[in-house]
Amino acid sequence: MKQKPKLAQGRPYLAIPGPSVTPDAVLGAMHRAAPNIYAGELPDMMPGIVADLKRVARTDHNVAMYIGNGHAAWEAALVNVTRPGDRVLVPATGRFGLGWGMVARSLGLETDIIDFGKQSPMDMDRIAEVLKADDGHRIKAVLAVHVDTSTSIRNDIAALRGVLDDLGHPALLLADCIASLGCDRFEMDAWGADVTVTGSQKGLMMPPGMAFVFFNDRAAAARARLDRVSWFWDWAPRAAPDEFFQYHGGTAPTHHLYGLRAALDLIHGEGMEQVWARHHVLARAVWAACEAWSTAGSFGMNVSDPAHRSCAVTALRLQTPQATELRSWLESELALTLGIGLGMAEPGDPARDGFFRLGHMGYVNGHMVMGLLGGIEAGMRALRIDHGAGALDAAAEVIAGG
Ligand SMILES: *Cc1c(COP(=O)(O)O)cnc(C)c1O
Repeated sequence: MKQKPKLAQGRPYLAIPGPSVTPDAVLGAMHRAAPNIYAGELPDMMPGIVADLKRVARTDHNVAMYIGNGHAAWEAALVNVTRPGDRVLVPATGRFGLGWGMVARSLGLETDIIDFGKQSPMDMDRIAEVLKADDGHRIKAVLAVHVDTSTSIRNDIAALRGVLDDLGHPALLLADCIASLGCDRFEMDAWGADVTVTGSQKGLMMPPGMAFVFFNDRAAAARARLDRVSWFWDWAPRAAPDEFFQYHGGTAPTHHLYGLRAALDLIHGEGMEQVWARHHVLARAVWAACEAWSTAGSFGMNVSDPAHRSCAVTALRLQTPQATELRSWLESELALTLGIGLGMAEPGDPARDGFFRLGHMGYVNGHMVMGLLGGIEAGMRALRIDHGAGALDAAAEVIAGG
């Protein structure tokens, strides 16, 4: 009996919005015997890693590193600038803004949420109204997600700084760049973020496991005013250690540091401007294909205005349960894994099976994006999902034009 050939043999491709694709150079750097943590190469690497991390965030200020994920970075940022009972403002544009708010509440913070829904960026006028009404300056921090990975909305952090400055409101501006750092342009100092948080597993192209908190002098001053910060989360010794172990509050994440060194070499070898430009072209190719698919059937992009779309992730919808069927088909037939819809419908709601996301962050190039889009086209044909024509032509035009 003739068997249908399997097309999944070959390198699998995880095209979810984090963890992202890990470069061979990063994997290779991590594949080594355990290094000495007391002297030699590993401690010697730290000043260079610190300097190169700051160049990624475009800041001349401080960075503290933690063994942890994005949630750890959220908590680290909050405990260094607030005390229980303080008020924080959360302008949420998706699941991740709400998630940071949830962490804030768990720390005893009074959490003021402005929910902008799942398809719109922050409305600066509404944020200004809330800040204006806070004439006693009880709001100590604004928790702003730059790119909300669930909705793929990108927010204007510089504009938010402008709102605070225009009102003379002293709240700190905390930016979540976990999805965007190393993908979408972000300039911490120029844009006036006081604190920036990120993780290792998205634009930084590493396995999950490290969290980074960048902070400026205003944020350091807020830290200095607190009566106490827990020993492990305190960012002060991590950013200015007297001894090597203080960088990591204990044993260093040895292999991750080798991977991080390799990832930073890739990023700065390419150059930040080039990294951002590459992500922009690749994202435009994805959008061009998605816009073509959207001209028939139920295919749709979550963010209609390209000005508010992230270059790192794209949130999409089909009819339920087509998105889940498409994801399953691509994974089993082509070894291509797409992201699930997140925060668009509650767990258990069948509507969840209508949403999916594409990750195009980090170590991604033109042929990977064309393969991703070509796979989706093939999947929709195999599953007879109605969709508009010309998607791959449109994407190829973008790639060809650069
Ligand atoms: C991934 C992500 C997080 C959460 O990171 P974890 O590593 O899963 O804890 C938070 N915010 C944004 C914007 C993210 O993309």
